[in-house]
Amino acid sequence: MSRTKFIIVTGGVLSGLGKGTATAAISRLLRNGKRIVTVKCDGYLNVDPGTMNPVEHGEVFVLEDGGEVDMDFGHYERFLGVACKFDWNLTSGKVFMRLIERERRGDFLGKTIQIFPHVINEIQQWWFELAEREKADIMTIEIGGTIGDWENSWFTEAARQLKRRVGDDVTYIHLTYVPFLDSVGEPKSKPAQRDIAQLRELGIIPDVIIARSKMPLSPKFKEKLATFCDVNPEQIISGHDIDSIYEIPLIFDSEGIMKIIGPRLGITQNPDLVQWRKLVERIKAPKHTVTIAIGGKYTELRDSYASIIEALNHSGANVDSRVMLRWVESTDVEQGRRSVEEALKGVDALLVPGGFGSRGTEGKMALIQYARERGLPYLGICYGLQLAVIEFCRNVCGLADANSTEIDPDTKNPVVDYLPDQRIIDRKGGTMRLGAFEAVLKEGSMIAGLYGGTRAIERHRHRYEVNPVYHEILLKNGLGLVGMSPNGKLVEFIELPGHPYFVATQAHNELTSRLEHPNPLFLGFVTAALKRHLNNPVQLSTVEANI
Ligand code: GLN
Repeated sequence: MSRTKFIIVTGGVLSGLGKGTATAAISRLLRNGKRIVTVKCDGYLNVDPGTMNPVEHGEVFVLEDGGEVDMDFGHYERFLGVACKFDWNLTSGKVFMRLIERERRGDFLGKTIQIFPHVINEIQQWWFELAEREKADIMTIEIGGTIGDWENSWFTEAARQLKRRVGDDVTYIHLTYVPFLDSVGEPKSKPAQRDIAQLRELGIIPDVIIARSKMPLSPKFKEKLATFCDVNPEQIISGHDIDSIYEIPLIFDSEGIMKIIGPRLGITQNPDLVQWRKLVERIKAPKHTVTIAIGGKYTELRDSYASIIEALNHSGANVDSRVMLRWVESTDVEQGRRSVEEALKGVDALLVPGGFGSRGTEGKMALIQYARERGLPYLGICYGLQLAVIEFCRNVCGLADANSTEIDPDTKNPVVDYLPDQRIIDRKGGTMRLGAFEAVLKEGSMIAGLYGGTRAIERHRHRYEVNPVYHEILLKNGLGLVGMSPNGKLVEFIELPGHPYFVATQAHNELTSRLEHPNPLFLGFVTAALKRHLNNPVQLSTVEANI
């Protein structure tokens, strides 16, 4: 059996307490020289969240290997700086599918296949094989949902039984909740007591309890909670509300989490947080503020743009700026409920993120046209590139009816089209171009300058492409197709010469941004926004949302 040490992270009382960020923060503290593999177990039966509605489920995070996973993997990658893999994500659907496939193959020779022990064994087998394959020093395993959920029960049981197989090589960390009752002016411990009693009933005794709360917990409160939960007060970590998620590793560290888990994991040195701390200080007290408009759909759920928000945060921290967001619902612009001028008044830049379907696209193109014509810094991501190309064809190249076949299948000028030969059909009959692809950047272009070379590797999740038939027309009219797939067929990056910053990519470059290494196009974008802001500071009358 492998010598991997395991950390199980569970949560209770409520969902949405930030178990994913807590797991990412813990992993960050353990990183020094260790190979860390971050595993997430999700109860749902979907094999991946790729087909789930982002409004319901939050953003679909795409991995380098093309796997579509839960947005918690975004936190893992951003905190740890690693590239996670698709098989680090277990869903009930994936586990059951693998088990049923084995049963169909006849692996069990007439035995009755049951949740206990077969599903439990399958899950543990998955963890062990992964630990072995990845040569993991430490494997963190986050169990989705809250303790007591039916659909996660097999993962919880597999986690409990892990102790029987690896002994002290497993550490259990539980995230609980301590509400603060305004009417009595104090934190209450009962929900956490009940929650931990339930965890113990399931056979898991926590080594560390992270108590999410509004305010830091007093030593007296920790003492009380410790008595009721049968742990030492040092095992209780205060996970109080903070301004930025990037503070979490610093808080956990100062709360002494490493004193408890370090020795269990054979870690003696302190975590290296010097640069991290410097950036967090900048996030908390930045010198400048820039305002960026995001023109998209789904603006009612910020979770569907989680990686974009984080990528802006990373770049903001690196240029000492707070990034305020103005959410512009593109259907409001499209249907005339909001004018472009009013929607973009006073902003320092515009970002159009990825999207699907036709609703709101005319609104987005109106916003892009404004940015292009008025020298407003623009960053287009995926659909944001395709729409910028369509807008350019319509208003610069004179192809008034240019469109994408995704929006109008019968358009006479399909400048964005579905290119079947670029596709690998997967089992669902889905046809997305998924995962990391290389692009060759034109020497001397602004984008090559930002990437510091002529090669860029970014992740993709899309069906349509700029139609090669129109490359020539676009170039002739002055659009820089400065990043192409190595075979020269697919447009990956565009820029508009002479514009302060008009840049778009077919990729989802927000996915590779890290606090300590912001994505180059985001850094260039926020820098351009700051430049514009410093040159013409506008007093904003509207209240902007603070990210
Ligand atoms: N809808 C477009 C396509 O499928 C863009 C996708 C995206 O923005 N992720 O190509």
